[in-house]
This record gives sequence, structure tokens and C-alpha cells, in this order.
Amino acid sequence: MPEPEPAQCPFEKRFPSQLARDDSFYMSLAYNQAIDAWREDEVPIGAVIVIGGEVVGAAHNRVEGAADPTAHAEMLALTQAASRLGDWRIEGATVYVTKEPCPMCSGAMVMSRVKRVCYAVPDPKMGCLGGAANLNELARSNHRFEVTAGGVLEDECRELIQAFFRLKRADPDAG
Ligand SMILES: [Zn+2]
Repeated sequence: MPEPEPAQCPFEKRFPSQLARDDSFYMSLAYNQAIDAWREDEVPIGAVIVIGGEVVGAAHNRVEGAADPTAHAEMLALTQAASRLGDWRIEGATVYVTKEPCPMCSGAMVMSRVKRVCYAVPDPKMGCLGGAANLNELARSNHRFEVTAGGVLEDECRELIQAFFRLKRADPDAG
């Protein structure tokens, strides 16, 4: 028996207008990263990091393929941005991510001193920027970043993640 094909991604990438470089534009790029994740049979979450209008990091979840629990989209994008800047302080950066960051990624955002985080889908279970907890409000930390919680392509990003798990559950060969 040949290996069963992973469930095909039924969603298409977005082609946002290049004219409006707004939150929705950059979240569309993060969404497209999430589509790439799905095409590799990874949970579809994507992240893009922007400084002064320029994309300095773009990645998707690779936990399964890399067999690495730290290979979340945000972690990979933060590493790319720091490497590009030659500095662990990613100052002035806005992180766009399709789902609210987990404890690890929220912590990494605190440690890297980003300026702003914009996430699409709140996560009351594991989200640590307001959903389940808030690492941006550590009482003695003097670094705070701006957070935009939901509202930017929220429905689209949620539908992508929910559809992925729906199809996984429907596939008896899926883990
Ligand atoms: Zn994470």
C-alpha cells in the first residue's frame, strides 16, 4: 500500500493589493505562510515580521517536519529577523501571526523587545497575550509592546485552522 496523501489544502493563497500596506496586507502574508504549512501537513499557522514596512521574517509552523517542539512560526520568524538585523533586539518590529502566540512564543516576543504584535485568532486555551494569560503584563517587566488582539483576517485564519483539524479527524490514517 502506498502512503496515503495528506489531506489537500482546499484554500487558496491571498493576493492583497500592494497599494495598501496595512495590517490586513501583512496578515495576508502570514495567512499565505499558514497555507504553506498546511501543504506540508503542518498545523496551518504563519507569522510575518515587519520593520518600517519591510518584511524581515516570514515563517510557518514546522513542528512535525522538523520534529522540534520549538519550530513554531513565530519562533522561526523571530530568529530570521534577529539574524537579518544582527541583533537579538528586534526593536521597532511588528509581528503578524495568524493565531494568538503560545507561552513560548509570547515569551520570545517579550525577550526580543518587539514593538507590536498583531494576531488574528484569539486562543483562550494556550494564548499568552490576553487569551489564557498575558506575558505582556509581567508586573516587574518594564518592556511592554502594543497588542492588536483579533479582528484582522480573524475569520479567515480561524476557518483555515478549524478546517485543517476537521479534515484530520475525518482521515482515519491521520495521527
Ligand atoms: Zn508558539
